[in-house]
Amino acid sequence: MYDVIVVGGGAAGLTAGAYCSRGGLKTLIIEKYPVVGGQMGLTDRIDNFPAVENADAYELSQAMKRQADNAGALIVTDTVNEIKQGNEKLVLCNESDYKAKAVIYAAGAYHRKLGIKGEDIFSGRGVSYCAVCDGGFYRGKTSAVIGGGDTALKEALYLSRICSEVYLIHRRDSFRGAAYLVDNCENTENIHILRSTLCKEITGDKTVNGIVVSDKNGERHLDCSGVFAAVGMIPFTDPLTGLCDTDENGYVIAGEDCVTSAAGIFAAGDVRTKPFRQIVTACADGANAARSAEEYISALL
Ligand code: NAP
Repeated sequence: MYDVIVVGGGAAGLTAGAYCSRGGLKTLIIEKYPVVGGQMGLTDRIDNFPAVENADAYELSQAMKRQADNAGALIVTDTVNEIKQGNEKLVLCNESDYKAKAVIYAAGAYHRKLGIKGEDIFSGRGVSYCAVCDGGFYRGKTSAVIGGGDTALKEALYLSRICSEVYLIHRRDSFRGAAYLVDNCENTENIHILRSTLCKEITGDKTVNGIVVSDKNGERHLDCSGVFAAVGMIPFTDPLTGLCDTDENGYVIAGEDCVTSAAGIFAAGDVRTKPFRQIVTACADGANAARSAEEYISALL
């Protein structure tokens, strides 16, 4: 039996694992993908992680992994399907089942879909959720990014360096993302910003050939080869169903101490209710969750 099982090997999970192990707790980190790092794996550079200017995202994630490894945490690749509550938490996975006194749940979030015609049919054939992963397929071609947050703005900037033209399509007049990113997009010649515009349909034959957009002037068709949906994330909380209270968007309700409504189960990172989801705030959650788990386990003795 482990003292702590950390579910998820992203920034929150790896930090929690490192802190727990350094605190002398027997710690297992379960990550469903063979490469840890979570959403750090979806980007190339990270420019706002303290003390690491213009960080290589993969290198940063590997540095976090090394720290957890060196502290003594065991990292396994497995998919968590269910967590059973009790004095001993039972974590049921595809390959094996594991027991622990406490669980730090840091499974992150996944991409929200646009929910429009053509999205599913052309997924992987022109529709993508990650410019860094798939942008190269559209070198010299026209692409469209849908969304108005930091992700959409960063994806548009990334694609502007690869594609001939980039449409950035946002449903409202003002962007949710950072002002400096909006400025950068506005000042990039081959980014064409379409505000107050809805993307209604993705069209194509074998692969995407365009989108149907709608604004106050009506509907029109825009030619493009790639469509990048960047419309936010949905927390991955299926294994916690019925265990922890969640808010109306499905995020696990927990304060900065990461304490949830379920005794001995702590939520860290993007799955937690919080105002600002960043790598640095995920790391902070990992540290706080480890401390809360440590206190919980100490009280069991
Ligand atoms: P987000 O901030 O939730 O923005 C999602 C955007 O998609 C919003 O502009 C939203 O429009 C739009 N949207 C949602 N559903 C839509 C739909 N069905 N059709 C069209 N548009 C839709 O998501 P995010 O950009 O992925 O960012 C998530 C978090 O990660 C944020 O806290 C962000 O700051 C952070 N982040 C930070 C960085 C960084 O480098 N600092 C990079 C990426 C992300 P409305 O605005 O109208 O709601």
